[in-house]
Formats: sequence, structure tokens, C-alpha cells
Amino acid sequence: MEKLNIGRQLPAASMIILLGLMGLFSALPLSAQKKNKKKAPAAPVQQIILTQDGISPYRIVVPAAATPSELKASRVLQDYLLQISGAALPIVTADKPRSKNEIVLGQNERLDEVGIPVNLNSLKQDGFLIRTDSLRLIIAGGNEKGTLYGVYAFLEKYLGCRMYSPKVKVIPQQKRIVLGKIDDLQVPVIGFRDTHYKVSWDAEYTDWHKLDHGEDGERPDWGMWVHTFNTLLPPEIHYSDHPEYFALVKDKRIPTQPCLSNPAVLEIVVQNLRRKIAQQPAATYWSVSQNDNRNYCTCDKCRAIDDREGSPSGSIIQFVNQVAEQFPDKMISTLAYEYGRHAPKTLRPRDNVNIMLCSIEAFRDKPIKEDSTSADFVRDVEDWGKIARDIIVWDYVIQFNNLVSPFPNLHVLQPNLQFFADHGVNAMFEQGNREVGGEFAALRAYMISKFLWNPYENADTVMNDFLRGYYGVAAPSIRSYIDEMRQALITSRQPLRIFGTPNEASTSYLTPSLIQRYEKLFDQAEAAVAQSPEVLERVKIARQPLQFAIMEQAKKNPTGDRGVFAKVNGKWEVRTDIRARIDPFTDLCIREGVTQVKEWSTSPEEYRANMYRLFSQGMNEHLAFGKRAVFTSPSADKLPEGADKILTDGKRGNHDDNYNWLEFSGQQELDVVIDLEEVKKVRRIESAYYQLAFWLRILPRQVEYFVSLDGKNFERVGVIDNTLPIDQYGGRVRDFIAEFEPRDARYIRVKAHTIGNTPEWHPGAGRPANLVVDEIVVE
Ligand SMILES: [Zn+2]
Repeated sequence: MEKLNIGRQLPAASMIILLGLMGLFSALPLSAQKKNKKKAPAAPVQQIILTQDGISPYRIVVPAAATPSELKASRVLQDYLLQISGAALPIVTADKPRSKNEIVLGQNERLDEVGIPVNLNSLKQDGFLIRTDSLRLIIAGGNEKGTLYGVYAFLEKYLGCRMYSPKVKVIPQQKRIVLGKIDDLQVPVIGFRDTHYKVSWDAEYTDWHKLDHGEDGERPDWGMWVHTFNTLLPPEIHYSDHPEYFALVKDKRIPTQPCLSNPAVLEIVVQNLRRKIAQQPAATYWSVSQNDNRNYCTCDKCRAIDDREGSPSGSIIQFVNQVAEQFPDKMISTLAYEYGRHAPKTLRPRDNVNIMLCSIEAFRDKPIKEDSTSADFVRDVEDWGKIARDIIVWDYVIQFNNLVSPFPNLHVLQPNLQFFADHGVNAMFEQGNREVGGEFAALRAYMISKFLWNPYENADTVMNDFLRGYYGVAAPSIRSYIDEMRQALITSRQPLRIFGTPNEASTSYLTPSLIQRYEKLFDQAEAAVAQSPEVLERVKIARQPLQFAIMEQAKKNPTGDRGVFAKVNGKWEVRTDIRARIDPFTDLCIREGVTQVKEWSTSPEEYRANMYRLFSQGMNEHLAFGKRAVFTSPSADKLPEGADKILTDGKRGNHDDNYNWLEFSGQQELDVVIDLEEVKKVRRIESAYYQLAFWLRILPRQVEYFVSLDGKNFERVGVIDNTLPIDQYGGRVRDFIAEFEPRDARYIRVKAHTIGNTPEWHPGAGRPANLVVDEIVVE
């Protein structure tokens, strides 16, 4: 019998082929659609009547020795066919007698019998074939989850089922299921597909969308992930006896990175890695990669390799190749990152070496390949693509600083994945929100999953299908919101940053007039689904980022047209429009399960408390309001422009460390004098500080307040020690308040003492802590 090698049918570019001749939804790439039109069969197509009036002559046939994944596939198919049609199909093994009406599943003995010899190896681990043959339906897949993926693809493409999110599924009712001819082969070009997005971690969602992660987002395929040199060569064990194992930096050996040309280092790393692999033998990928700092070894031997290769990746690849030689059945992964991002000139990674590239610096307003500011990164991807067989890209798809904030990057998701896939990238880690929620979390996770499987899927079709299914009749308004925001961003020609803020966007895609327009679109969307409480809730969740942006902008410019405060009869009062937003916003976050509005800090309750704090402080034109501050410390070179006004401008720093705060580093203390310009009765002084301890922003250990009549002789009126822990990594705002017997004063002096360098237990041990201060309030 002539064996049909499916692998040979793949075009050279080896993109996914979708050859469905019938499907409820046209998900075919245009080229394939045209081809199919030309090849439309002349003979009438034999129909398969799978179910009729809730009964079915069919049975599901699994291999006699089915794998757990094939058995699961059979149960999933059985269950959904029952839900769709009311028909319960029996599951039998292939050693039972044949019948005409069979759904043949998996790497099945029947495949040869029905005349469809399949070289299942060419389907790799995840690919599959869906095909009709006479009265049979065949769904057979690669050796890991291919058959299960085939079943989900069949349900989706041919029976109209959808899984938009773990909670929102569509299962169309159909008493009579009829199939025409199907010949559908799908093999993904990206073999490892991970959306690090909490909404996608649900077990069924993971299988349905063919993703490679466990239920908590963990990666069972990966034994070690990144920055592993310190684990594989622990400085605490080796540095004191063998400083020569570590990097020579400016004539000194320091334990920042290993000395990769030292043979003893290779021996220890291989030994430790062997021990790790023995503990987790199922994992394929093992990271042997640089620590997260730039101090690599510049000893004569390391430097000779790096000079020859034109990049410090030279000594890295030489070293990692030697490790990989010891573990031929594992993939040894290393970072092409920071100093090691450029590819070496002559060295080639071994076949079992994986190269990990990170797109963290890139902007998200344009596709990477069209953005001149990403030219360097694009060249690196192209260069590595020419020499490495296995590449993973760690890509970033949300705004990490403000998780619940508009972030119009949907239009770059697909072109970026296409660019990577075209340059030999066969594994993708798409980092989204590891917490519940975030802007368009379900939509973004859905689109990314679709494009990971097929980077050439029609993006418009995917998005519209989702919007219709998820938002019902509100879909057109939401689509307009997405389109208009994207257009505004592109027209503004401003960059979109993953660490940006809604205030930054106030001159691009979040201008006052655009915000008005978006509000109108969401009013329409809400009105359209007012009768469906569940869909209405989804629309409100989609609106949350806009609410957040409005409140953030109101805080940034508190006395502006749309600020937190409005002047009513000559008095500053909280604007009712802003006050009315905070409770519904927070309550919706809590109902939805949002735990953080910012990657490292700020729960919804903290956000609400911050807002109420601002309301209760009021737009207080206190005694120091608008007065100039003169700094003795920090020195002028540590101060940004406008620093003399920021502490007395009436705007309070809040949960977002990006604005209204004055931050300075390098162990500098705060010592500042404010001239009230005339003698006043003073009874209270306060100043606020921000802490985000992981990122070296740490509260002062003590704050002192002084007053003076002449600006020379100061009397100390308050000393406040910090009592909050500095070893917790959430964001904190702390007021240091001194109240005292009222006294006459013209000059106010504030001294805040930093803790100095961070203590040993801190991840940035020994580095100078920063002080972050805002608003010195004098009453
Ligand atoms: Zn060295």
C-alpha cells in the first residue's frame, strides 16, 4: 500500500495548512480559500448524517491501547455531541468488529483499514487530521495531545462551538448533524504556545485552545526557566574559595556571572543540572542562562571568544553548547538578552540548544518589524533565526504599570507573531496578566491563542466572532471603541509603552474629546444589552479601563476641567462626576475577582482608599500651597526640572509612582526649606512618602520637622519614625504627620532620612534606597 506522507505536502514555509472544504465559519487564509475554489470537486459529495432527531447510528472508535489523551478526546467528543444533538454515542475499542458508521479517533488500527494511511510522525506532537472517508469521520493527531486538539477543532470549526472564556461557551443545539466532505490537516508552526494570562489557565480552555501550560500557568515542559547561573553555580558555596569561577569585572572577580571559559565551572554546572533533571525527568527544556545583571566576565579567555564573535553571546553559546552535549535528549535553553542579545558571528547553537529572546524594550503602537526603534531587536531575531533551530520569544502584551487601563495593542499581536514565526521562532511565551482581569483580558487571551496556533488566521474574523459571541448586540459599539482608539494612537504617532500610563496617553488615544466619544460608545453598548444582566456585566468590565483612565487623569490634573476638584462658590469641592465613579469601579473589580490594578501593587480596595484619602484631604490650599521649596539635599543634579514646585502644588502622589512624586536616589537625604513669604500661625506639618520596596523605593526611617522665623534658627517641632515594614513588596503610601502647639513661623524645614543601602536580605542587597516624596502640607 502506498504510504501518504503528509509531511511532504507541507509547503516550504511550513505554515499551518487549513484545507477544510466545508466549515460553518470561514477561517481559511485567503490563499487557501482561492485554491479550494479552483479545486472544488465536480462529483456530488457524500454526506455523513451524524445524528438525526437526537439519535445516531455512529460510534466512537478509540485505539485498542488508547493513550489517556486519546481516551479524553473520545469522552469530550461524546459529551459535546450529546449536548449538541441529544444523541449518546457509544465509545468502543478498535479490536471490536467494524461497522460502516464510525468516528475513528486517534492513532488507530482502523486507519490502514479505511485506506487512510497516515504518517503520524509528521503531525509531531500537536498536529492533527480531520477527514471524512466514505461514511467515516476520522480525527487523528500527533503523539501528545493532537487527537484531543483535533476534537476541539472539529467542534469549533464544523459544529460551531466556541469557548470565549472559561465561563462563556457557545454550544449550538442541532438535532440533525450533517457533514460534507472534510479534509483538514493542521500542524502548528509554533510548537510551544503559552499565554501567560490567568484567564487562559483553566484546564478545558488550555486544551480547547491548544496551549502549553498547567492550571496555575506553570510550564511542566520547562524544568528551569530563566536567569539560572546563580542556581547552577551558587556563589554562596563557591565564591569565597574560588573567586576565579566568577566574572572578572574591572580587575576584580565578582559573583555576578560565571567565568564561562573556566572548565571547573562547566563541570559544576553540568553536575548540578544533572541532579535537577533527575528530580524532574519529564521536563524537556532546561535553562542555563545569565543572571539578571550586566557584569559579565572580561578575563582574557572569555574576552578572546567574545571579541572573535563580536558579542558576549560568544562565550555564552560556547559554554551552553558544551552543556547541551552532555544532555542530548534535553533542550538546553539560554537567554539572548541584555549584553548577550546579538548573535555570534561564527558559533552555531547545537540542535538541542534553545535561544530565548525577549521583546521587553519594544513599543506596541506598530508591529515590531515596521518600527524603526525596534530595528536592533528585529536584526537580532533575524540573525538568530539564521543559526538556531529552536527559538523561544518572551513577548509582552499588556500595560504592566496599569493593568486596568486602555492599551490599544490588539492590532500588533498578529503581525508580531507572524514576524516571529517567519524567522524560525518555534516557541512563544506571551506574558499577559497573571492576575484576574485587565483590559479585554478574555478577548486578548482568545486572539493570542488563535494566532499562536495559526499566525495567519484572519484577525478580523477572529475578533468579530469573539465580540459577537461575548458582547452580543453590544459588539458593534465595542468594535468602534477598539477601532477608534487604535486609529487615534496611530494618528498621534506617539509610542505605546508596556510601562506607560493613561496620563501619558492624554495627548494620543485618551484626549478629552476622545474620552467623551468612548463614553458615548459605551453608553450605547450598555443600553443595547440592558435586558441581559450577564452580558451587561461583561460590557461594564470592558468599560472599566476607561473609568480607570478618567479617574487617573482627574488625579493628575486635579483642578483642571475634568479634575478631581471643582470650584463651587469660590471653594474647592470634589467633583460629583469623579466621586460617582470610584465605588462602582471598585465594586466591579471585586465582583470580577480583580486582585491588583498594577503589576506589583494596589488592590482595588487600596485604590478606593487612596481615592477617598484624596477626597478627604481636599484641594487644600494650605499655607505652603504654591510656595517655592529650596533644597539643601538632594543635590541639584539629582533633582528633576520643576522640583521646587512639586512638593507644594496641591497635587498628592497616589498609588501610581509615575506621577506627582519626587524621587531621588543615591543615598541622598531630603532636606528642604519652604518660605511661607510671611509669618503665619503653624500647628501641623505633614509629608507623604511612597514605598515599592522591591524596586528600591523605600520609606524614610525618620522624618523631622522644624520651624523658623528668620530662616537661620530652626526649632524642631516633630520627629516621626517609620513603623511600617520595609520587607513587604506591595505598594504603600505613608503620611508622616506632626501636630504641635501653634506657633509663629515663616520658614518650614523638612528632613527625611533614608535607610541608606538596602539590607542583605533585599533582592537588590547593598544598593542605595530611593526616597519618594510628595506634598508638604502646612496648616
Ligand atoms: Zn572569564
